[in-house]
Amino acid sequence: MPDRADTAIQEKLNQRLRFYEDLGLGPFYRDRRTSAVQSSTALALPRSTSIEEPNLPKTAPKATAPAPATKLPSLPVAAVPSLFEATSKIAGDTLPVIREDLGDCTRCKLHTTRNKIVFGDGSSKAELVFIGEGPGADEDAQGLPFVGRAGKLLTQMIEAMGLQRQQVYICNVVKCRPPGNRQPDKDEVESCSPFLFRQLDALQPKVIVCLGATAAQTLLQTNRGISHFRGEWLDYRGYKMIATYHPAYLLRNPHAKGDVWKDLQKVMAELGLKIKKNKAK
Ligand code: SF4
Repeated sequence: MPDRADTAIQEKLNQRLRFYEDLGLGPFYRDRRTSAVQSSTALALPRSTSIEEPNLPKTAPKATAPAPATKLPSLPVAAVPSLFEATSKIAGDTLPVIREDLGDCTRCKLHTTRNKIVFGDGSSKAELVFIGEGPGADEDAQGLPFVGRAGKLLTQMIEAMGLQRQQVYICNVVKCRPPGNRQPDKDEVESCSPFLFRQLDALQPKVIVCLGATAAQTLLQTNRGISHFRGEWLDYRGYKMIATYHPAYLLRNPHAKGDVWKDLQKVMAELGLKIKKNKAK
């Protein structure tokens, strides 16, 4: 007969699994970086899952030998992917299916202030995906990403690469506008980003460009500032990704445009796009 600790743990696991089902996430895969971790029968849980051990009685005498180990299920808690890494590649997942799963989302508090969900826009066959932080006022009003001033600059950047905006895919980490254009909170990113990860897996892009720190930090699961890795090729679950400055930052700091152009030229080379010669030369 299971003891109370086992029952509590089982309930905690059930709650977490129900949460994933609610997100539309079914199967889980084991991150290749942790592939050495065993057992096909082990349940793959996010690293963030905590299993609380029952409190030991406070009255236990100090001098006694260590209490026998509490019976806990042998789950690879510390070695499995986090929620961010655990979004599985769902066979046959498509952008319309993901949008349907998202529904009229109320999974985080941003739903209370949004006008429109901004899911993403562009070609479902895009080889190049741009990811921003979250919608602004114009995007919130129109339900489309990057349509304000920063969006116009992004469109110019895409065209400077020799592409049309319709040939790429553009989306954000969170799909509802944070009030006052503040940074999304951690819990908001955690609630929304699984849908971004599914979008990326459905698109299978050759290159991902993260616009600004939030997108890069979400994919890389780091708190490091963008200056530590801007312009470097990075790996996100087998996809090539690069981080550069957000167009909104460029509007405030035009001197940084040169750095962004250098980063985009790397992307162009990767995609086999020709860099146009300067006519004035
Ligand atoms: S930001 Fe994402 S998780 Fe939050 S309510 Fe909007 S769609 Fe749902």
